[in-house]
Amino acid sequence: MTYFPHNLDRPLECDAIVVTCLDFRFQRLFERWLTENLDHRYYDRVAYAGGVKQWDVIFPQIEFAAQVHNVRRVILINHEDCRAYGEAGTYDRHVRDLRQARARILEKYPQLEVELYYARLAGHLEWISAAVTPSY
Ligand SMILES: [Zn+2]
Repeated sequence: MTYFPHNLDRPLECDAIVVTCLDFRFQRLFERWLTENLDHRYYDRVAYAGGVKQWDVIFPQIEFAAQVHNVRRVILINHEDCRAYGEAGTYDRHVRDLRQARARILEKYPQLEVELYYARLAGHLEWISAAVTPSY
């Protein structure tokens, strides 16, 4: 990964904001995935227990990234066995929370691309479709 210095003459334009849980078990996986998927692009990064679960904390960070850094993409990553969710953290709950977060972002920032992922302990990320199934 190459580091490119910045200077004040360049516009503040960032490709994406990435929101994950702070769980230590997943950080190397996230680093690897971000290197593979966002290398040579800039991204803001937020790590907070539960990922999108604490929406009142997370959303202002996304708003800052959208308004100040002009990000175009939002990447939301929740994960398996998240202790911030505890017993409530079923796969369906994570999918529902991720989709709800996406809907809330698009309500205010319809121009953004919002991507959803679910990280597995085994070491990979699953893409979550934005479509809401009738059961929700
Ligand atoms: Zn977690």
